[in-house]
Amino acid sequence: MLEETLNRINTELREAPDKGLVADYIPELAKIDPNQFAMSVCLADGQQVSCGDFTTNFSMQSVSKAFTLAMALGRYGDGLWKRVGREPTSNAFNSVVDLELGGGKPRNPFVNAGAIVVTDALLSGRTPKDTLAEIVQFVRAAVGDGDIYINHDMARSENITGHRNWSLAHFLKSTDNLEHECELTLGTYFHQCSIELNCQQLARAGRFLAGLSGGHDMIANRHVRSINALMMTCGHYDGSGEFAYRVGFPGKSGVSGGILAIVPGVASVAVWAPGLNSFGNSQLGTLALERLSLAMSWSVFDTK
Ligand code: GLN
Repeated sequence: MLEETLNRINTELREAPDKGLVADYIPELAKIDPNQFAMSVCLADGQQVSCGDFTTNFSMQSVSKAFTLAMALGRYGDGLWKRVGREPTSNAFNSVVDLELGGGKPRNPFVNAGAIVVTDALLSGRTPKDTLAEIVQFVRAAVGDGDIYINHDMARSENITGHRNWSLAHFLKSTDNLEHECELTLGTYFHQCSIELNCQQLARAGRFLAGLSGGHDMIANRHVRSINALMMTCGHYDGSGEFAYRVGFPGKSGVSGGILAIVPGVASVAVWAPGLNSFGNSQLGTLALERLSLAMSWSVFDTK
């Protein structure tokens, strides 16, 4: 049933006339072929089903924010919320005005300003090199596979053109919400966004958030709950309401076109389609998850 559903979605979406647009503010991302599509699902019984280009690597981009949040909650617990909020926003993922309105406290850990603060917290008492090694190690442990690396060309590309993130970092610094120099925190953040994996690996990486075997002891259950709640309310930025309405379970998107979505207790789902909608979320990825959710009755709002 699941295999048939995935194959049907793969066939249908490859024919979709409007695939969205690849992000072009990071030159390395602008090079990606938009005609790619992959989906992978891990289930509670250990089964994994995949379709499409599921062995092709892509950079995690903002999907990495779910993992750094997990690490930071593990290290600081509720103390983290002194520096970053937990509310959705109707502004874009890289909004400067949102940060200013919050007096330098980002709305949530998934908008760029919030994720930059989380990375800054992870840097405390460590070098950027060690911090990055810890982040990569965490992702590898979540996947259960050591074959995961940073794409340094991607990180360099964003370092040069990521002016919006530089402005957010400087604003955070001006309000005393950044412990380290902007170069150190952003350098680490750009590299974390450039961790590459494939769709099959990403679905495995989400098992600890879905409560499936293979990832139970990554972080405490109360933190898993918190992350899933934030993925549901904030994981797709100002498109989070639309995602909840259409898909109905928590998800975290990235500007490379990847989405990690969690059906609590049931499945960890990864989808990758590089073209984006107007919110900067994968256009076909969202559509694929909507169809999967309907076919499997996986919305957390389903009553049967
Ligand atoms: N690295 C990207 C940025 O900071 C991540 C944004 C995203 O995936 N939405 O702009």
